[in-house]
Formats: sequence, structure tokens, C-alpha cells
Amino acid sequence: MNYPEFPAPAERTAVIDLAAIRHNVRHLSHVVSPARVMAVVKADAYGHGAVETARAAVSAGAAWLGVAHISEALALRTAGITEPVLAWLHTREAEFGEAIRANVDLGVSGWDLEEVVAAARELEMPARVHLKIDTGLGRNGCPEDLWEAFVGRALAYQEEGLLRVVGIFSHFAVADEPHRPETDEQLQKFRDAVAVAEDAGVDREVRHIANTPGALSRPDAHFDLVRIGLGMYGLSPFAGQTSAELGLRPAMTVKTTIAACKEVPADQGVSYGLHYRTQEPTTLALIPLGYADGIPRVATGGPVQVDGQVYPVVGRVAMDQMVIDLRRTGIAGTPDSLVGREAVLFGGEGQPSVDEWASAAGSINYEIISRIGGRVPRTYIDSEPRGGAGDTEGLPIALEAAPESTTAPEGATDPETHAAQAVEAP
Ligand SMILES: *Cc1c(COP(=O)(O)O)cnc(C)c1O
Repeated sequence: MNYPEFPAPAERTAVIDLAAIRHNVRHLSHVVSPARVMAVVKADAYGHGAVETARAAVSAGAAWLGVAHISEALALRTAGITEPVLAWLHTREAEFGEAIRANVDLGVSGWDLEEVVAAARELEMPARVHLKIDTGLGRNGCPEDLWEAFVGRALAYQEEGLLRVVGIFSHFAVADEPHRPETDEQLQKFRDAVAVAEDAGVDREVRHIANTPGALSRPDAHFDLVRIGLGMYGLSPFAGQTSAELGLRPAMTVKTTIAACKEVPADQGVSYGLHYRTQEPTTLALIPLGYADGIPRVATGGPVQVDGQVYPVVGRVAMDQMVIDLRRTGIAGTPDSLVGREAVLFGGEGQPSVDEWASAAGSINYEIISRIGGRVPRTYIDSEPRGGAGDTEGLPIALEAAPESTTAPEGATDPETHAAQAVEAP
């Protein structure tokens, strides 16, 4: 699929604005200060590119990185990223030894403690572990009734020099619904678990429980560190609040161009199943993105913006393509002249939102961005190439070839304006 010796302009792309990621990290760091931010870059940074996102986040002040799998952590190390990284989801096949060697922190909940210790013993290198307590989510995490014994085992291994207990953590279940009482219960259980560990002699560096919704809605959940995923990508975790209302900027724009366009009579069926029929003579435009690219098959009605106007997808989303009905909108041009016109599925201000796609698909914004597929090349831009106010460093990636004239004012998010700076993902 990749022919690097023949680079072509992207026919479809997910444009990632690194300045938006930095802005969001700075904003969230301010909200949670003096707690620090762990930038969660699992699942290829929710589709944004783990290495590029991690570098941008660190340059904006993120002190830690977080991933689910050890393999994701090792990929960051291979890219030369040296900040603390925590990986928290393991199987019996997990490469604990590689993680220890690469100085990757390991979240442990039960059986994994023993495997981590076995790997540390073999390597004669201490592991860095974060003990996880299940405060109510019911996934991993040590059950409350086993916690004291678990902590005791970890301390015994620490005495032996096989590990260091760096952190104590847990994960929220309903923080995106701030009125629900379970979050209070989880917080109380977490405080109790921390107290048990400290009484037993644990001298941890960090306590952490909050994800993005917890960080934004519960100042009493910040502790020493918050684990931020969605908010760093500029999206809102709350049903009733937009990104803009939270001071966040969406970092990903997914766009392509119209691949075909034609006039059709009334009663023209559209796409598999013929669930849509034109009501009157109209113009249909073909959008070359489909469910193989991560656009959910059920997302009929999802918004596509052409020339500033938004058209809903009509008929089924197919594997590679979907159709919009240009109707009576008076879009200028003959069908042939509309071929090649830019079509934006979602992006920042003034463009359709990820949330509209989530609602068309009966899903959440997390799923829409993280499933944008490998057939959609990522393109990185920097709408504030000199660094916005408060930037702690300059550019996270080399864009110094960007001409002066493309420098954007603070707040500019239109990626088109900065196309000259676009760099293709490797
Ligand atoms: C994915 C994940 C996060 C990040 O959650 P957001 O709501 O995206 O901020 C934090 N902690 C854990 C354990 C996770 O799995």
C-alpha cells in the first residue's frame, strides 16, 4: 500500500494539528495544577499517531505518558522518547522483561505482579510498578478485600530489591456523568486504599485516578497525576458540553475530495439496500471514504461539508465510499466541475464535529477518532509553528522548512491555510 518512492498527494487524510494538541495539554495542565498530566497515547493516540502526539504533549508540559499495552510503550522508547511511560493492560504473553529493560512503568492488579517480579529477578533489574485498586469499574484492579495482602506482597518484593512501588491508581466508571453518585464512592474507596498502602509503608511518587471527564469535573480527583486522553485530542467527554465550552480545540480533521458527481432523476436509489431514493431530480456526490476507513456503516446522516455547506450522507455507508445528496442548495458548478472539491467529514471550528458523527453512528467521539483507519494517511501540521503563548519548547517535530509567510496567528485552526507546512506521516 505504501510506495514511498512515488509520494502522491493524499486523496484522503486525517490532518493532525500539533498546535491543538499542545494547546489542550497546556489548558488541561492549568486546570489540574499542581497535579501533573499523563498524556494517554494508547491506540496510536486515539488515531492521531502515538509518537507525534507524545512529542507534542511532552513539549507542552505533559510529565508522563500512558498506554494500554507494553508494545505501545516500547514503540515510544524505540522512537527515542525518554519520559516516564506507564502501561496497564497485560496478558500472560506480555513482554515484562522488555518493559523493565526499557524503563517502562507497569500497572499491576494481581497475577501480573508475580510475572513482573519473575522477569525482574531474571534480569536482576528492579521493575517500576503502579498498584491498581478496583474501586468499582469491575475490570482489572485488585479487589478491595485482597488489597492489603497485595500491597504487602509488593512491599516484600520491594524489600528484596525486585521492584519499586512508584504509584497507586484506579480508574473511573461514570465520570462522564458528573451527577452520578458512584464517582464519590470510587473516590472514597481510592482514598481508603491509598491510606492502607501508606500505613503499610508504601512511599509512592504518584496517586492517580482521573481520566479526562474526572479531571474536568472533579477537582477532588486530581491527586498527583491525571491521565488525559480525549481532552488532549480536543474533544468533550460530556454529552451536554462542546469542546469549545471546555476550552479545547479538536486536533483531527478528516477530509477527502469528491470522487464523482452526477445529476440523477427523482426516485434514484442510492447505495446498497436502496434505502434512500431521491425525491426529485438532484445531484449526487460520491465521497471516497467508507467503513474500511473507519466511518461506521450505520452512520447514515453523518455530515459532510463541501464549500461551507453541510450535506448528510444518504443511503448506506459502504466499504470504500458513501454518497451525499447536494439537493437544492445551489452549489455552483457542473457535476464534472464539482469533482475534486474538498469534502470535510469533521474538524475544528466551523466544520462538522466528531460528535455529530458519533451521534449518527449511535456511538461516542472516542470511537470515531480511534477507528479512522490505516488507509487514511495522517498529515501533521502546526498552526502555531513558533509555539503559542506558554509553550515550553519550540517545535516537537522538524518543520523549520516552513516559510515565514505561513505563520499562523494564535487561534488559527484552518489547516488549509498552512498546507505549505504539511508533512506526511512516515
Ligand atoms: C484510556 C484511559 C484513560 C484516558 O481516558 P480519557 O477519558 O480519554 O481521558 C485513562 N486511564 C485509563 C486506565 C485508560 O484506559
